[in-house]
Amino acid sequence: MTAYSGPVFEMAAKQFEVIAEYLSIPEDARARLLMPKRAVTVSCPIHRDDGTTAVFEGYRVQHHLTLGPTKGGTRFAPSVDLGEVAALAVWMSWKCALVGLPYGGAKGGITVDPSTLSRRELEALSRRYMQEMIPFVGPHTDVMAPDMGTNEQIMAWFMDTYSMYQGQTVTEIVTGKPVSAGGTLGRREATGRGVAHLVRKAADEIKVHLGGATAVVQGFGNVGSIAALELHNMGVKVIAVSDHTGALYRSSGLDIPQLVRHASLRGSLAGYSNELGFDPAEMLTIPCDILVPAALERVIDAKLAADLRCRILAEGANGPTTPEADLVLEQRQGELFLIPDILCNSGGVVVSYFEWVQDLQRLFWEEDEVMRREYQVLDRAFERVLARSKQDKVFNRTAAMAIGVERVRGAKETRGLFP
Ligand code: GLU
Repeated sequence: MTAYSGPVFEMAAKQFEVIAEYLSIPEDARARLLMPKRAVTVSCPIHRDDGTTAVFEGYRVQHHLTLGPTKGGTRFAPSVDLGEVAALAVWMSWKCALVGLPYGGAKGGITVDPSTLSRRELEALSRRYMQEMIPFVGPHTDVMAPDMGTNEQIMAWFMDTYSMYQGQTVTEIVTGKPVSAGGTLGRREATGRGVAHLVRKAADEIKVHLGGATAVVQGFGNVGSIAALELHNMGVKVIAVSDHTGALYRSSGLDIPQLVRHASLRGSLAGYSNELGFDPAEMLTIPCDILVPAALERVIDAKLAADLRCRILAEGANGPTTPEADLVLEQRQGELFLIPDILCNSGGVVVSYFEWVQDLQRLFWEEDEVMRREYQVLDRAFERVLARSKQDKVFNRTAAMAIGVERVRGAKETRGLFP
């Protein structure tokens, strides 16, 4: 038992054990790599609109500080607990290390359903959370970003709250801000664009022609909606999409630009169409070329892994596939190409890094420069994962995680153990 015990942290620990075995990391060196450096739990009281007081629990976990500041998003969701946040922080570490960013991983969150708060309550909660975190974060300590349930506006409130306490504007304290408040062009689209870009690379690799290929996208938030739009623009027929309100299916392809407009106006897919309604539970097993889980973690278990009917599994979400499902997917490697989460959704943190660099330098780039550099980083990481999996005949997830873990381990070894 640790403070993080729970199903999601156990999953991160099991995945790490697979890598530790593969890399022959000695038993006594494993905990130093896996266990988070710091965890903070805070109570965030706010005035509700009805005059009562409510208290929400918030967390921030910083996994390791070996390569630089920690980096990672902030999740507002009812499922948030310390173990989930810790697992997500660990995954951020392997992700940043895989793509070569000078960061350790972090994650934070509040246990709340943000749709139950008014805008004023959401602002109060966001500001209170950041205010409680001030002793533990900083542009060279820990840099926050958006995640599920948070957005650019919340990042602007975080930045403003931190800045008011410092007596100066500190844009580099968070990434994923609006461009008007020191954000970078291309950050909002970065994760979804990266997913689609890597799907193209995978399709080239296994010789799937994208024109006329079919895709299913689970989750229609910032990641899923942009990934769907980019795939649509590449000529892919997106035949099914879903979010927490339901699923839509059309065998000839959905009108993705119209769906994206609907979701941005209405906040979800609800109310778009009754005729196209579909059982969300069936989403992941629809026969298709490209499957993009871009919602919650642990949606693909061993049984579902055996039933998947896609050729490319592009993990837009963090941790959508359980370690038991991985064993099944590993057996299906010839028929199903996995783009593992820490590679597939890394475009977001890559462009967060660009935002932080631009903020520190007060020198801003054009959007095409941001995209060119994002794709350059993703291409290099994709090639390395592919080369490693071919060379060692290992599963793509094993190759990706091993590259990340090795980098963190190498840095810890050369720095040594203090004192
Ligand atoms: N929350 C995102 C992720 O899981 C982005 C993190 C960041 O940009 O720092 O990768």
